[in-house]
Amino acid sequence: MRKLFFALTALSLLACNNQTSPENSEHMDSDSLVIDIHTAAKPQEAVVKHLHWDAVIEMEHKRILATAHWDIVNAGSATKIIFDTKGLKITRVTLDADTGAAGYKLNAPDPVLGSALEVSITSSTKRVNISYETQADAAALQWLSPEQTAGKRFPFLFTQSQAILARTWIPCQDSPGIRFSYSADVTVPKDYLALMSAKNPTEKNSEGKYHFEQPKPIPAYLMALAVGNIDFKPLGDRTGVYAEPVTLTSAAYEFEDMGKMLSSAEQLYGKYAWNRYDVLVLPPSFPFGGMENPELTFATPTILAGDRSLVSLIAHELAHSWSGNLVTNATWNDFWLNEGFTVYFERRIMEAISGKSYADMLAYLGYGDLKQTVADLNAENMQNDTRLKLDLTGRDPDDGVTDIAYEKGYLFLCQIEKLVGRPKFDNFLKNYFQGFAFKTMTTEQFVVYLKEKLITPESGLEKELNIQQWIYDPGIPEGITIPSSERFVSVEKQAGKFFSGTLPQQLETSNWSSHEWQYFLRFLMPNLDAQKMTELDQVFHFTATKNSEIAALWLQAAIQAEYKPAYAALDEFLMRVGRRKFIKPLYETMRKNTATKEMGKVIYKKARGNYHAVSTNTLDKLMGWPY
Ligand SMILES: [Zn+2]
Repeated sequence: MRKLFFALTALSLLACNNQTSPENSEHMDSDSLVIDIHTAAKPQEAVVKHLHWDAVIEMEHKRILATAHWDIVNAGSATKIIFDTKGLKITRVTLDADTGAAGYKLNAPDPVLGSALEVSITSSTKRVNISYETQADAAALQWLSPEQTAGKRFPFLFTQSQAILARTWIPCQDSPGIRFSYSADVTVPKDYLALMSAKNPTEKNSEGKYHFEQPKPIPAYLMALAVGNIDFKPLGDRTGVYAEPVTLTSAAYEFEDMGKMLSSAEQLYGKYAWNRYDVLVLPPSFPFGGMENPELTFATPTILAGDRSLVSLIAHELAHSWSGNLVTNATWNDFWLNEGFTVYFERRIMEAISGKSYADMLAYLGYGDLKQTVADLNAENMQNDTRLKLDLTGRDPDDGVTDIAYEKGYLFLCQIEKLVGRPKFDNFLKNYFQGFAFKTMTTEQFVVYLKEKLITPESGLEKELNIQQWIYDPGIPEGITIPSSERFVSVEKQAGKFFSGTLPQQLETSNWSSHEWQYFLRFLMPNLDAQKMTELDQVFHFTATKNSEIAALWLQAAIQAEYKPAYAALDEFLMRVGRRKFIKPLYETMRKNTATKEMGKVIYKKARGNYHAVSTNTLDKLMGWPY
């Protein structure tokens, strides 16, 4: 997942937990039982192996009616199997051949974890069938109205199961440490296409009935479904793009290099273990960047810049096909194993495709984000959350989604690479992905593996790396190699010239990528006034840009500098785009400036209906809604 949540919410009132003692953790037996605090399931007693999901999607009623047929394994003589559910209306539970009703109990709900469903079984039970309905407020299900789509004619549904929301649409053992294969029969209204994290259809059929197979075992957080007026365009033998018809051509253009990315990734760390790699471009109100659903990444349309300049997000989601989807964090406390490895891998793909100086820019920007996150968490007295190994006891695992897992995790891997050299590290990673394919990994297991294969006692590197400090101590270790970017140094030079009076047309900006432009604007922003903005706009036409990253920065600068010629573009952008990363700073900046405060309210009032609940949850508070 790419920067889905900004987790610096007021959850500091929740318990400040004792971190697992580093001494104990380091010497933990790697085969010892892994406890996931975010599931009620007891997989060591009775565990799921395969799901057949039989579902009817009611777009009109915003409801799913389904039966989950679970093939299970009873480890011994367990008399019950436990599933996670949240807000599901359970209508019937049967065993094996679906004959007589089975005994079950739905426990009282926990606000974060939901209700455990305990089904009575015997040692000979092979299958549990659970019929149920989803509720209107199921957090994983995003029902979009036609206005929230690009085509404006059909409603749209997509799911977001990570971290523990699969249980709001499927009763399941919702732990990243529990894997299962699945098949599904899904009925949707005709004129709609259904897609899942599985082998997918490429065109609609007249009955609206679709069959899916995912033979590889995946954890529940990778269960995914999308239903809408969706078309498909192949890009190569193994890659393709799904989107609403009005978006399909631009999406296909933008992602043309996806096949190349896939080959680069394979050259780095071994064969792609899944069937195809396709991307589904979601409607503009999708509040996130992307989600690595197996075989079908879900992505925001805001990366469609028209010039293929924002595709590193695809590299990130593709990299998850190894780190995360293939070797999976065993619990959400080990989230850095998913995201730190993925950021490292993403930048290696981008380096292979666009060169080292390009990857350096990404690393430099990431380091800036990390420093900011550490400062913010320290200011909120949440230092424990700046450790790689988290302790999310009693908390929502979404709290762990910060730049720590992504960027501190990345830096740790860079540090290892620096110590052992790239060839050795690449070989290590390749073996790691192969050796633990379709398995889960705890931080402690990884440390044992690292010490066995790379940072061995004989290597003499253990002291220098200080694994203990990287994983269990807060903050950024001292003495690390800080990312730097030659290309940003030249951008700063040009920005300096501009402020010293050089005209924009005389600046050396040819061959600048989207990232250099972003850095240029970030660098200038604190000191721009309306006059300077006019000069820039006349030459670089920022107000008319189709690049959403650049547009978001420029519009923010426009609000700060009260640069009125950009206000119409600001209005249009906020009416069209719902990605929280972009719209939150824009509304925040309007609110802070007395001259634009009222305009912010006016726009929010008319645009709010186009946004996803994830975005309005954040913005309602910020903007003092309702009014
Ligand atoms: Zn990710």
